Amino acid sequence: MIERFYPNMIVDSIEQIDLEMLKKKGIKGLILDIDNTLVPSFIKEADERTLKWIDKIKRNGFKACILSNARKKRVEQFNEKLGLKAIYRASKPGRRAFTKALDVLGIDASQAAVVGDQIFTDVYGGNRLGMYTILVKPIHKQEFFFVKLKRYLEKYVLRRYYSDSK
Ligand SMILES: [Mg+2]
Repeated sequence: MIERFYPNMIVDSIEQIDLEMLKKKGIKGLILDIDNTLVPSFIKEADERTLKWIDKIKRNGFKACILSNARKKRVEQFNEKLGLKAIYRASKPGRRAFTKALDVLGIDASQAAVVGDQIFTDVYGGNRLGMYTILVKPIHKQEFFFVKLKRYLEKYVLRRYYSDSK
C-alpha cells in the first residue's frame, strides 16, 4: 500500500508548519531531521533561522529532539547551539530509532510529529509507528547519489498522493 508513504502534511519549509493545528491534534513533541530539513547538509552549525524556529516551537510548549542518520560529529556540531536531545546514526526508518526518540521526549507515538525531508526515512518511519508526519520540501539540491535516486521514487509517491487527495 502506497499510503504508508504518505505524509500527513507537506510544507515548503519549517516555518510553514501550523503549530496551533498540531496542538489541536494533541501533538506534544517534534522529532526533527537535520539534513535538508533544517539546514542543507553542508551547513555545519545551526543557523539563525533554525535557532529562531526552535525557540518558537519551545515557546509554544513543544518538546523537540533531533533524530538523524548522520554521524555523531555532524549531529553534535549542529546541536551545539541548540542543546536539544539528539540521536545520531539513527537508522531511520527503523522502528527503534523512533521508539528511542519517544523515550527521550517522554511522549506516546500519538503525541509525536516527525519533521523531515525524506519520504522513505522520515515519513515512512514515523507512519510505521502511527506518528503524525510532516514532509518538508528539501532545502538544497546538492545531495548524494543514493538520495537523488530515492527522490525519483519519492516523486512517484507524491504524484499518487496528490491524485489520491483530489
Ligand atoms: Mg534529511
